[in-house]
Order: sequence, then C-alpha cells, then structure tokens
Amino acid sequence: NTAVDYDLIGKHEVLPLYIPREKFSHKGTYGHALIVGGSYGKIGSVQLASKACLLTGSGLVTAYLPKCGYIPMQTALPEVMIITDEDEKNISTINFEISPNVIGIGIGLSTVKNTQKAFEEFLKKNTLPLVIDADGINILSENKSFLKLLPAQTILTPHPKELERLIGSWKDDFDKLKKAKAFSKKYDCVLVLKGAHTITLYNNKGYINTTGNPGMATAGSGDVLTGIITGLIAQGYSTETAAVFGVYLHGKAGDIAVENYGYQALIASTISDAIGDAFIDLF
Ligand code: AMP
Ligand code: MG
Repeated sequence: NTAVDYDLIGKHEVLPLYIPREKFSHKGTYGHALIVGGSYGKIGSVQLASKACLLTGSGLVTAYLPKCGYIPMQTALPEVMIITDEDEKNISTINFEISPNVIGIGIGLSTVKNTQKAFEEFLKKNTLPLVIDADGINILSENKSFLKLLPAQTILTPHPKELERLIGSWKDDFDKLKKAKAFSKKYDCVLVLKGAHTITLYNNKGYINTTGNPGMATAGSGDVLTGIITGLIAQGYSTETAAVFGVYLHGKAGDIAVENYGYQALIASTISDAIGDAFIDLF
C-alpha cells in the first residue's frame, strides 16, 4: 500500500494531544533534554534551541557545546546547564554523565571531520530518542551508512536544501513526497519537511501544518523548532506527536509574534518569546 493519508493540522487537531501540567509535580516530572550542537561562531543556534526547549516546558535542559560556547551560553541562559567538549571550537566527542530522556542534535554543529566522527561514535552507543536538525542531517547525508544507527522514530527536520542532500532532488512536489515517504519508511524516521505548510510524514500518514507565515523565513527559526520538539519529547510526548504538535506551536508562535513585529522584523528570538502565548491560545 503506497497511499498516504493527509490531515490538515490546526488547533482542533492538536488540542487532544496536549498533556496538562499536574499540580503535584516537580521538574523531574517534565524531563531532561540535552541539546548538542554549536561550533565557533554558531553558539547562538544552541542558545535559541535551549531557550525554546525551556519555554516549551522541559523540566531541565543541558547544552553540550564546544568550549568556546561556555561563557556566552551561561551568560545568556542562566536556566540551562552546560557540558563542554574538550575542543575549543568544534565538538570532538559526545560524552556525558547525565541522564537526559531525549537529545536534540545537529544545530550549528558544522561538518568538520572530527565532529562527523564524534557523531558516528555517539550514534553507535545512543539509545535515547533523537531530534536531528541542520548539520546533523548534513552529516547523515554525507554518510548514508550512519542512517541505520538511528533509533526507531528518530525525528529529522530538514529545510528544502537539507532534504535534497538527504533524499536527492525531485521533479515536482508529488515526487518529493513520494521520495520522502520512502525514506521515512526505510529508516523508520519521522520526517518533518519544513517550509510554508510544513508536512510531517510518518507511517503512511502526512500531517500538513496550517500555522506559520513568511516572517518565519529568518535565521535561527528552525533552531527554535528543534528546541520546541525536543522539549515536548522530554515531557513525555511520543516523537510523532511531538513533531506534529511542535510544528503547530512554532507556527502559531510566529503568527502571534508577527502581529506585533511585522514580517520583516520577526526574528527567531521573537518567535521563541511567543511560545507561551501559543500554548495559551490553545484554550
Ligand atoms: P530553518 O531554515 O532551519 O531556519 O527553518 C525555517 C523554519 O521557518 C521552518 O520551521 C519553516 O517551516 C519556517 N518557515 C520558513 N519559511 C516559511 C514560510 N514562508 N512560511 C511559513 N513558515 C516558514
Ligand atoms: Mg535550520
């Protein structure tokens, strides 16, 4: 059976997915997300993702960064814990002694050889759910053999260029969806095809998002999405639900923010700052 069932995703569809906050809970109830990424000059990507992850409700967030990220990260986000790599500018090993329940990886990572090796070694021993974005996807595209190391239902969030590197070029949108679906099936991954009307593909289902606007075509916008999706998984949402709900919340945050900022001045931090309003808008 090759047919894919498509659903439009709006407020009505995501409301039943929402997990309410419990009165008798503590930060341990809401998970511990680890965000792995950054390289010299791209520490901001991890700041954006980590902050979005906290704003989505993750109980704890730790960032894994090259050494040069320590001071800027600690200064920008006092709520985030940090583990630094032994290398100054790039991630060269991914070792940690904490117990997160989800890992968001790839943003601002760069694709230098050392980091590719570290990523491979990490994938070989990792058993946690993963959200992979940006250079994490680019490294997978350069090393297709790494794909079989991914845990079941890994989320990949490519923008169109990253998707093309991952699955090859396409003739038209139908062809793109066909190839993306085949890829998602082959590697058992949740594929989030970012763009205007982001489409999430998993298990013969397609979810077409209805929130978002062209003001969100701006640097770091995708890093915020990575943080949101990772934060939802930390709190116990399944990866498929986290992808669909996360894409909706990200777009809704952008729609709320654009009311005050306009399309041109909307930047990733502002999208992130509206995550709370996107949750409030559900009710
Ligand atoms: P990235 O290219 O990784 O920064 O990701 C860009 C993010 O912004 C994705 O979540 C896209 O879905 C969103 N985005 C980009 N352009 C548009 C657009 N024209 N309309 C709606 N969302 C967009
Ligand atoms: Mg991106």
